[in-house]
Amino acid sequence: LVQELHRRLASVGWLGYKDPDHDLYTEETRKAVVAFQLSQGLHPSGEVDEATWELLGDPNPPLATPTPLPSAIDVMGMEGLAELLNLPTYTEDGRPIVYLTFDDGPSEYTQQVLDLLARYDARATFFVVGEQVEFFPGALRMELQAGHTVGNHSYDHASLAGISQEAFLFQIGQTEQAIVNAAGDLSTHENNARYLRPPYGLADDTALLYAAALGYDIVLWDVDPQDWRRPGTRAISDYILSNIFPGVVVLMHDGGGDCTQSVQALATVLSELSAQHYAFHRIVLP
Ligand SMILES: [Zn+2]
Repeated sequence: LVQELHRRLASVGWLGYKDPDHDLYTEETRKAVVAFQLSQGLHPSGEVDEATWELLGDPNPPLATPTPLPSAIDVMGMEGLAELLNLPTYTEDGRPIVYLTFDDGPSEYTQQVLDLLARYDARATFFVVGEQVEFFPGALRMELQAGHTVGNHSYDHASLAGISQEAFLFQIGQTEQAIVNAAGDLSTHENNARYLRPPYGLADDTALLYAAALGYDIVLWDVDPQDWRRPGTRAISDYILSNIFPGVVVLMHDGGGDCTQSVQALATVLSELSAQHYAFHRIVLP
């Protein structure tokens, strides 16, 4: 049945999903299912229910990817997320700032990302998945040691929209605990900041209330090159570089599947943007 699911997903051209030719329901499969569900106006559960299965056999034309939380650009004509969150867009000496963010890690790719960032004296923000932190506590420590920001991206990459308060508390609280456990003595007041990036960028009003009650700030992004779909290294770096502006928040991935293209694209992005005198800062909300 899972192999048939792979075939159906692969036959939906605009998903960009390649049939992996095995019978595992991987994180990548789940993401493709979520992307498909969003495109069909279904609840993005990541689980193949009857409606999803039927539409996979005979899909409707894709809806534009919904942005359930208003993007900063739509809000009062703001420049981008940085302005909305009161983040600086230029350094004091006048260099434009880019905020690189990495979701779904840590993973076996995180060290390569950290090495590249270090080469450019770049700081970034990692929105980590709790169960990944439990698998890769050393990588989490390396992120903190190198002075990056760590944010919360749920425990197992569940959609936070439409879930109960209990489930929400589990997703966020269990991830907090995983971070504290992994960080150990590196855990400080400053790096315990409560930044939440909901998986798939999805949160409904209820989830936003729960997040606020826990003292979390929601941090989305401006530029999404969809690197997790592996469109090619060049496509990822080109997309980022052609959508850059001072204060831009860029979404990339250091987990959730094969991140080889993301790492290679990051090398290009760092090199090109540092040639344009960009400074790479981590997110620290005022
Ligand atoms: Zn994610």
